[in-house]
Amino acid sequence: ALVPALSPAASAAPLPYQDPSEPTAARVADLLGRMTLVEKIGQMTQAERAAIDADPAQIATLNLGSVLSGGGSTPAENTPAAWVAMVNRYQAEALKTRLKIPLIYGIDAVHGHGNVLGATIFPQNIGLGSSRDAALSEKVGRVVAGEVRATGIPWDFAPCVCVTRDERWGRSYESFGEDPALASRMASMIRGLEGRQPRDLDDDDHVLATAKHFAGDGFTRYDDAIAAANQGQPWYNKKYPIDQGVTVTSRADFERLALAPYVTAIDTYGVGSVMPSFSSVDWTENGVGDPLKMHAHTELLTGWLKGTKGYDGFLISDWEGIHQIPDPAEPANTGLTAYKVTTSVNAGIDMFMEPNSAPQFEQLLLAEANAGRVQVSRIDDAVRRILTKKFQLGLFEKPYATLDDIGRIGSTENRELARKSVARSQVLLKNDGAALPLATNAKVYVAGRNADDIGNQAGGWTITWQGQSGDVIPGTTVLEGIKEVAPKAKVTFSADASAPTTGSDVGVVVVGETPYAEGYGDVGGPECGWCTVPQQESKSLTLQPGDQAVVDKVCSALPKCVVLVVSGRTQVVPPALLPKIDALVASWLPGTEGGGVADVLFGKQPFSGQLSVTWPASEAQVPINVGDASYQPLYPFGWGLRTQVHGGGDAYAKALDKAQAKVVTGGAPANWAKLIADASHADLTGDRAAALSLLAQVSG
Ligand code: BGC
Repeated sequence: ALVPALSPAASAAPLPYQDPSEPTAARVADLLGRMTLVEKIGQMTQAERAAIDADPAQIATLNLGSVLSGGGSTPAENTPAAWVAMVNRYQAEALKTRLKIPLIYGIDAVHGHGNVLGATIFPQNIGLGSSRDAALSEKVGRVVAGEVRATGIPWDFAPCVCVTRDERWGRSYESFGEDPALASRMASMIRGLEGRQPRDLDDDDHVLATAKHFAGDGFTRYDDAIAAANQGQPWYNKKYPIDQGVTVTSRADFERLALAPYVTAIDTYGVGSVMPSFSSVDWTENGVGDPLKMHAHTELLTGWLKGTKGYDGFLISDWEGIHQIPDPAEPANTGLTAYKVTTSVNAGIDMFMEPNSAPQFEQLLLAEANAGRVQVSRIDDAVRRILTKKFQLGLFEKPYATLDDIGRIGSTENRELARKSVARSQVLLKNDGAALPLATNAKVYVAGRNADDIGNQAGGWTITWQGQSGDVIPGTTVLEGIKEVAPKAKVTFSADASAPTTGSDVGVVVVGETPYAEGYGDVGGPECGWCTVPQQESKSLTLQPGDQAVVDKVCSALPKCVVLVVSGRTQVVPPALLPKIDALVASWLPGTEGGGVADVLFGKQPFSGQLSVTWPASEAQVPINVGDASYQPLYPFGWGLRTQVHGGGDAYAKALDKAQAKVVTGGAPANWAKLIADASHADLTGDRAAALSLLAQVSG
């Protein structure tokens, strides 16, 4: 609803752009025609909350088009009402400008409205991908959009439609999986976030989505040869070589693996914005030479995206992403220069995430435009795209948020959907002797550092950018879920397994990772200044020594042992430990609803998840993906045992059951893993016949 005192003057006859009965294109053209170059450049500029909060009047003096909250940049009192007040306060500044163009506020709600205390936190994408359920992903998007918009924020920097091709990438958890067909399927989240474009964008339940990071962010080459060849080169990000490095690939593979999900995001869902990746791409496939930063990639941004695909949304640069463009005149490659601004604007980026350098960005672009190095027609194109979305979002009519919808944040209904998503995301890797489901009156010994830690369960982008361990948000831990689902069970809890295991019949050991958001992940790296985990946790994807000790202790002591791996990516389970584990579960990062994990443990819900990524047998196998020449993982892509089958499921699920049973009991052909992974891929692409025939080769 409008806040009357601050709405545009009601008395004067509205200008065409202020008239909601005019078509959007006409409103945009009218407004653009009234804008000065300085005002246009302002619309292309996004600053960060922390940089403007002390003096929000900068929003008007800089004519800012947008403000963002980077991870963890929240109002002092982190409540939904405080968010609404803050966003409205900034909006009021924007509406003081000559043309009263509303601000578009953006945030990373990558697994729920994670910055906001009390929000519903869903499984991170790698878990959702294991459900393979496009309808579920859409529903999740819809709930997230509702919670985000309720705080007055109309724009979400999600989803990542990346495919993760190397589990050492510290953002693997943001990926729906390693297969572009899976990422494309789960991109239905965009429909949930935005509704049908442009019809639904302006209602209270939808936000603008962002497909990111365009493109190839999940399969940069990360090995010593590449590092050696590129060391010292301005394009090589030696601080984050795996996260923001060089994607070395043929053009054909780049299209098949990196661009494919964007085809769906654009053609099927009309995603409103796209964020380029920090990484570079190198078509020569030898990993040396002068790979082009995605933020400077004219051919892909303007040629392919806006040209071939006819993309009509806008491109938002990543956090100081243009600072990484090599400038021949600035060998240190650390700052913002005229060259970087001009190169990226001319490459096709429309809005610039310049958290701390908005004024410099504006000055540089103005000077470059005045010097004729950036054409006003390019600036007009960028502003037209941005304004179009602002009109479609209804921001001119409803610039302010009310408190009307904040009750939906973290509501019972929303948490129910999250709990269901958790159950659907759990992947049962191993279930010897039908260890699962557990009897509801079992004597359960719960152990492990991730059993009762909501922060670890939620992972990165939760309250803070990197996320953190401990009791940081309201929600249900796995331990609390177990107690709730099985009130008759006798539960003993000992995180470090120091309490006696006497008398328990089953151990449930919850281990895995601690939170991180980007870079290498919690395993850190020599230069990972912000990693929360001490460096003694070596750069390794193997279960940490402390976790191994707890698993060993509990599983050696008790007759039955279930291990849950709560992590944002696969974790190598040492071969010596495996035989001691009866049931092994990939729990991923479930978020606030640990009850969903308990639901499948006790058979209230079936296990039905299928691996969204290949589970390696050893560190030596990493990276490992479907289609690799040698493919002998511990569990292939698409693997997932089911409980409470009772003949249920579709033809594919039944054939997979049969094939997996053959693998477990013995007698499957040596290449069973490849057959199952290929079947899984075939099924995702809709080739059911091929999928069934591949599975039949396994079951014989
Ligand atoms: C990330 C983006 C994110 C942006 C804003 C960057 O560090 O790469 O995914 O949208 O920060 O928080």
